[in-house]
Amino acid sequence: MSEVLNLPRPAWMTEDLVLLEDQARRFMAAEFVPHLDAWHEAHMYPREVWTKTGAAGLLCASMPEEYGGAGGTFAHEAVIDRELSLAGFDTFGGPLHSGIVAPYILNYGTEEQKRRWLPKLATGEMIGAIAMSEPGTGSDLQAVRATARKSGNGYVLNGSKTFITNGQHSNLIIVVAKTDPKQGAKGISLMVVETDDAAGFRRGRKLKKLGMDSADTSELFFEDVALPAESLLGIEEGQGFYQLMKELPQERLIVATQAVAMMERAVGLTIDYVKQRQAFGKPIIDFQNTQFTLAECKSEATIAKVFLDHCIERHVKGELDTVTASMAKYWLTDLIGKIADRCLQLFGGYGYMDEYPISRLYRDARVLRIYAGTNEIMKLMIARSL
Ligand SMILES: Cc1cc2nc3c(=O)[nH]c(=O)nc-3n(C[C@H](O)[C@H](O)[C@H](O)COP(=O)(O)OP(=O)(O)OC[C@H]3O[C@@H](n4cnc5c(N)ncnc54)[C@H](O)[C@@H]3O)c2cc1C
Repeated sequence: MSEVLNLPRPAWMTEDLVLLEDQARRFMAAEFVPHLDAWHEAHMYPREVWTKTGAAGLLCASMPEEYGGAGGTFAHEAVIDRELSLAGFDTFGGPLHSGIVAPYILNYGTEEQKRRWLPKLATGEMIGAIAMSEPGTGSDLQAVRATARKSGNGYVLNGSKTFITNGQHSNLIIVVAKTDPKQGAKGISLMVVETDDAAGFRRGRKLKKLGMDSADTSELFFEDVALPAESLLGIEEGQGFYQLMKELPQERLIVATQAVAMMERAVGLTIDYVKQRQAFGKPIIDFQNTQFTLAECKSEATIAKVFLDHCIERHVKGELDTVTASMAKYWLTDLIGKIADRCLQLFGGYGYMDEYPISRLYRDARVLRIYAGTNEIMKLMIARSL
C-alpha cells in the first residue's frame, strides 16, 4: 500500500528504520499477503509463519543482539507492527510476542532466564503468550484466582485463563498468578511456563470471535502443573503487578500503532474503491459526500498519526508516561472504529461482504477498544491525572 497520509517521515524514523520498513513490506507482500484469504477461511494461520518471521529477523527486533534479537528499540517494533497492519495481517500475534512477552523477560528476568528464552523467541522456535485474563476477571487484575503455590523447590500452578492471544501456538506462557492468595496486588507474581511436555497443562477451545478470525485466541487450563523455582520471573515473589504496570505503556502503544496503521489502510482501500465504482454514470468519488467523508477520514488519520509519532518518539527516549499512553490507546482505537465505519459505508453492499478487506478490517478493529485494557480503564487512568 502506498502512503496515503500527507506527512513527512517522522523524526524517529532513522535510516536503518527506513530500510527495515522496506524489508518488512517486501517480506510480508511475498510471504503473507498471498495467503491471508486462505488463513482467514481456515480460521487459523499456520505455525510456520512464526519461524519464517523469525528467519527474516522480524521477531524480537528490539531485543539485544546478545540474546538473539536485532539490537533495535521500540521504534523497530513499531515499524514492523505498522507494516503488519498495512498488509492486512492484524491477526498475527507477533507484536505481542516481540513487544510484550520478550520485554518482560528482558526487563525482569534473571540472566539465566534471558539466555534460556529470548534467543528461542527471536527465532520463533518458542512462541510467547501472556495469560492475565480469567473467566471471572479481566479489567480487575488484582482479582485473578490462578495460584502458584510453593511446593518443594518449586511451585504448583492452578487456574483457568481465557481470551489468550497465541493460545494454540504458544509454548512459552507468562501466567499471572497469586503466589500469596491472601494479598491483592502484592500477592501477584509472573510465572513463565514452558508448556511443551508440561503435565497438567491443557489448551481449551480456539474461540470463535466477531473478528480477527485467523488469530488463535484461546482458553488455557493449568491443573497442578509442577514448575521449577526458575519459572518465577525474576527472583522475588509478589512483583507481578508492579511489573505489569511498568510494561503497560508499551502494550498500549502497540495497540495504538495498530489502530493508526488500520486507519491508513482503511482510507487507502476506500480511495481506490471509490475511484473505480460507478453510480449514476460517474465514479462515486465525484459525489461531494464521498469527497467530504474521505477528507474527514484522511484529516483525522493524519492528526492521529502525528500524535502517535509524538508518543513513539517519547517512548523511545524512555519518557512516555502512563497517562499519555492511555490517551493514545483510548483515542486512537476509538477513532479507527469511526473511520472504518465511514469507509465501509462508501463500499455499499460490498463493504458488508466478507471477501472485501474493508469488511474484515471493520470487524478486526472492534477489539482494539477492548484488549490491552478497555478504553474505560484508559479513561480511569487519564482521570487520575485531572
Ligand atoms: C481478541 C482478544 C484477545 C485478547 N488477548 C488477551 C491476551 O493475550 N492475554 C490476556 O490476558 N487477555 C487477553 N484478552 C482479554 C482482554 O484483555 C480483556 O477482555 C479485557 O481486559 C477486558 O476484560 P473482561 O473481558 O473481563 O471485561 P470486564 O473487566 O468484565 O469489563 C466489562 C465492561 O466493564 C467495564 N469496566 C470494568 N471495570 C470498570 C471500571 N472500574 N470502571 C468503568 N468501567 C469498567 C469494561 O470497560 C467493560 O466495558 C483478549 C481479549 C480479546 C477479545
